[in-house]
Amino acid sequence: MLITEEEVPQDIFLGDLNGAQYQAVTASAQRLLVLAGAGSGKTRVLVQRIAYLLTQCGVLPHQLLAVTFTNKAASEMRHRIEKIVGNSSARLWVGTFHGLSHRILRTNAARANLPENFQIIDADDQLRLIKRLIQERGWDDEVCDPKRAMGFINRHKDEGKRANALGISSVPEVAMFTELYRLYEQHCQRTAVVDFAEILLRAYELWRDCPDVLTQYQQRFKHILVDEFQDTNTIQYAWLKLLCGTESNMMIVGDDDQSIYGWRGAKIENIHRFHKDFTDVVTIRLEQNYRSTSTILAAANALISNNASRLGKELWTQGIQGEKLTLYGAFNEIDEARFIVERIRQWCHGGGSFEDIAILYRSNAQSRVLEQALRQANIAYRVYGGLRFFDRAEIKDVLAYLRLLVNLNDDTAFERVINLPPRGVGERTLASIREIAKEKQISLWVAAKSYLPTIPLGRISNGLRQFFECVEDMLTQVNMLALSELMQYVLQKSGLFIYVKTQPGERTQARIENLHELVQAAGQFSNSHDEMYEQTSTHSSETLPSFLSEVALDAGDRDTEDGVCIKLMTLHSAKGLEFPLVFLTGMEDGLFPHHRCFHDRALLEEERRLCYVGLTRAMRKLYLTYAEKRAFAGLSGANRPSRFIDEIPTPLTESVNLNAKMPLPTSPAKRRTSPDALEDDFPFQLGQRVKHQRFGEGVILSGDGAGETARVQVNFAKEGKKWLVLAYAKLEPVEQ
Ligand code: ATP
Ligand code: MG
Repeated sequence: MLITEEEVPQDIFLGDLNGAQYQAVTASAQRLLVLAGAGSGKTRVLVQRIAYLLTQCGVLPHQLLAVTFTNKAASEMRHRIEKIVGNSSARLWVGTFHGLSHRILRTNAARANLPENFQIIDADDQLRLIKRLIQERGWDDEVCDPKRAMGFINRHKDEGKRANALGISSVPEVAMFTELYRLYEQHCQRTAVVDFAEILLRAYELWRDCPDVLTQYQQRFKHILVDEFQDTNTIQYAWLKLLCGTESNMMIVGDDDQSIYGWRGAKIENIHRFHKDFTDVVTIRLEQNYRSTSTILAAANALISNNASRLGKELWTQGIQGEKLTLYGAFNEIDEARFIVERIRQWCHGGGSFEDIAILYRSNAQSRVLEQALRQANIAYRVYGGLRFFDRAEIKDVLAYLRLLVNLNDDTAFERVINLPPRGVGERTLASIREIAKEKQISLWVAAKSYLPTIPLGRISNGLRQFFECVEDMLTQVNMLALSELMQYVLQKSGLFIYVKTQPGERTQARIENLHELVQAAGQFSNSHDEMYEQTSTHSSETLPSFLSEVALDAGDRDTEDGVCIKLMTLHSAKGLEFPLVFLTGMEDGLFPHHRCFHDRALLEEERRLCYVGLTRAMRKLYLTYAEKRAFAGLSGANRPSRFIDEIPTPLTESVNLNAKMPLPTSPAKRRTSPDALEDDFPFQLGQRVKHQRFGEGVILSGDGAGETARVQVNFAKEGKKWLVLAYAKLEPVEQ
């Protein structure tokens, strides 16, 4: 039975809801599937339902579990719930699969067969460890590719498969990877570290193998709500299914058209499985989009209709038609960035704010040129999900010392700092230590200790001894100092601070600032930790382990107080978000869709879904930009616009192609003898000789823009071709 708009009770505290949304919010069904397109209010419905359960149905906060995809989405969700129900949301569990699983493992470490001080290793550490194991096993990197091996291990974990469940393969590479997987598992267990995939798998196994622990959680969580369900993978689905059992209520919301993590094992089919695994599933579809103009929505609908495998739905909106999508074919990536800056200015002149704006791209590496242009233009920005603060080398070095303080057997941390700052412990010494560790199945720390008395006195033994003394001294401080004090102590005692300070290079200052920032982050963490547990933490032994876990799970997407700024992020990290003004950049065939997807229909469809996610982030205005030439990841090639642009009906778009207005002269000879005309108000002509204070003399090749943004491309005799903005370049004509 469908509820019409008029029938939705108006006095409800929940705010505006349409009929279908109201049904979803208030449904009494035990299993609920909300299947709906972008911007139709899925997340809103999920949040309102939580509020409804808390305020109208007598459900207590601790009985609710909400799972979302990113830390940012989780904090936003908590924020929205707090707005509706106030502080009573504190005991409610909202988080990502990783965050929640980690919490469960910490509480039940022993039952999950983990020591209490277990630590999380990130992808970078995981790869280092795999490389080391390959080396120890005596395999060649070329034969046993570390990255492929890591993919193999993670894929199997995501599928819930342990090494010993894989059997013996007749394919040499598979057999090799399987053995490595086994060695890797043993090593991680011995040194008490878990990787990201392990967190999920271990939590799942804990529930599977300890029914009493499972029952405890099942009894607690009466309502489970999952956002972005289309991107759950096998192990996450199994996790949910176990937890839900037969008694709990579960609501899942998702959109098959926005499934974009197939490459990481996400399964759209989980939507079908939900129907199969649970009886009496009530499905509610939401089809009205509240986010975008009808033009943006029509473009997105047209694009996604090119995908064959869809559950099928068409979104509509009552919203305004709005402006057409603007296409800009830039000369190169620098020109693309320049155009974006110009349009950002325009938006702000028109009364808009930086906060409204997002620049999206397919690949992280694209951000560099954009960042440079924004910095030059003095526009505040923040990059989401790029190189995380905690991934920076200097930060990871300090964290490695801290990890050792929590767990001396953490080999990855040991390897990172044994000779940092340099103290004469070289690769050969380390190899001997590794050999002992491998033979006796002990950690590097213990191995190094037993190795020390066997080597002659000298630089190496001094270095090793100094390292032990230093770490042992720090250990005594853990119980005395607060977290930020400990951080400072480690920086001084280890010699890292002086080391970073005295390293030559342009990044020195930035690295020092990062170290200060880390001390500050530690202070903030202690404060919020104290608030959460209503106590004053006197020393780091309580806070350090949770600080390190939080750091490892931080995906660089946390909300910080950054003031008003533009957001830069990959399309993947834009999922679920919305912005009045969106620039979708790098819309070139080969970059987006990525050339590796050209000949694989399934991959190409996933790229198209990613593009659909991008288009549907925009509320009022959308720009699509591409560069005819792009120097990218060392390649410089000529590109054609993305095929996804062709899939958007032309009447919905308008093109701005500044270059096209100024055809390049056909030959240098022609340029010199008969200069072509530029726009009327250009002070120069094509082919004219000009002089620049720094670059010397050159010839004008082309130009574009007008007024303040007018620029010319000049071929300088010494410096080659350069684009210059006329207003700043101070070019002078050279008499010929
Ligand atoms: P996505 O698929 O991108 O995650 P979604 O389906 O989760 O999108 P929401 O983010 O919940 O959509 O909602 C999109 C926008 O529409 C939000 O700004 C939300 O506040 C607004 N919205 C949703 N429902 C209504 C409504 N009934 N009346 C007014 N605005 C609404
Ligand atoms: Mg959403």
